[in-house]
Amino acid sequence: MTTKNILVFGEVEKGRLAPITKELLGGARRLSDQVGAGVNLLVAGALSGESLQDAAEFGTDIIYHATDPGYGEFSSDAYSFLAVELCKKIDPVLCLMGQTDLGRDIAPRIAARLGAGLCMDCVEVRFDPAQNIFVQTRPAFGGKALAEFSSPAGKLQVNTIRAKSMEPAATQAGRKSELMEIKEGPDPSAIKTKLVSVKVLETDGIKLEEAKIIVAGGGGLGSAEGFTIIKELADALGGVIGATRVPVDENWVPLSIEIGQTGKIVSPDLYIAIGISGAAQHITGMVSSKKIVAINKDPDANIFKISDLGLVADYKTVVPVLIEKIKESAR
Ligand SMILES: Cc1cc2nc3c(=O)[nH]c(=O)nc-3n(C[C@H](O)[C@H](O)[C@H](O)COP(=O)(O)OP(=O)(O)OC[C@H]3O[C@@H](n4cnc5c(N)ncnc54)[C@H](O)[C@@H]3O)c2cc1C
Repeated sequence: MTTKNILVFGEVEKGRLAPITKELLGGARRLSDQVGAGVNLLVAGALSGESLQDAAEFGTDIIYHATDPGYGEFSSDAYSFLAVELCKKIDPVLCLMGQTDLGRDIAPRIAARLGAGLCMDCVEVRFDPAQNIFVQTRPAFGGKALAEFSSPAGKLQVNTIRAKSMEPAATQAGRKSELMEIKEGPDPSAIKTKLVSVKVLETDGIKLEEAKIIVAGGGGLGSAEGFTIIKELADALGGVIGATRVPVDENWVPLSIEIGQTGKIVSPDLYIAIGISGAAQHITGMVSSKKIVAINKDPDANIFKISDLGLVADYKTVVPVLIEKIKESAR
């Protein structure tokens, strides 16, 4: 029986495991096989029986399920407390979270309280058996370079992982895992903040971070109407729309679709950047997209430097043609 373990902090959406959690379990499973460790999953709040079975089939050995109502809604204080207490108990070698609102919020708190190494927004984690360390890769200098980071051997490493960086493991139907219920709630003295209200943002269905195709617009669209045009392109492709900071500042689109350093981090299969200059603060949020297509009327725009395909044109002339061609080919 293995005593080492890797802990995944899972996220739940409508009672089911979020896609990022399945990706983290896939990454944890592959690493654990190299390290000789077990994969533990920590989840808080209501979770369906199917999700617990999903967790087992996606490679979890032990599921820690915190069921106290104190963990029913996300709370930085309560969730950090939960993760820290579990880490003290099971002493993991590695703790993985998504580069999501939850991970961004609690990973630094957990690492600071446990004196662990912290690496945010990783796109890869590998194990170096010669040095007995985990090596984290993450974008640096606004996405212009990839840098590797590691902590000294023997130190707990806490990482947040960018969506779509790790492949979910192939499911093993009928695989079993052990279920450990955490019935105790958070220590009241650890709760310094109070949740006043929750506002659920309306989305088109597919979350930006999980979309396979993103059509993003920038200041070059000139108005909110420009986003109606690119939304038609996104719909024709089965994708969703994103934006740079300029359209958000101009109130053409909501903040929830901003991509970049202060917005969402995305890695779709296809990213179409329209009327976007390619500022470092934007590029850092989308540079790991598999294919990047840019449409910009300035041939010297920075976005072309990271594009697989570039079109120097006014979007108002080319996007309607593209929409027509895509619709035609779908007929
Ligand atoms: C601390 C900090 C954090 C930031 N965080 C973010 C972030 O998270 N995300 C983000 O996006 N930005 C962020 N920014 C802002 C960032 O620096 C840029 O200002 C912003 O990304 C520029 O947006 P843009 O390329 O859409 O607009 P612009 O710089 O205005 O570029 C518009 C582009 O559209 C082209 N264009 C114009 N008309 C047309 C047309 N008709 N057809 C085709 N092309 C056309 C132009 O040639 C130009 O290249 C941040 C800035 C700071 C200081």
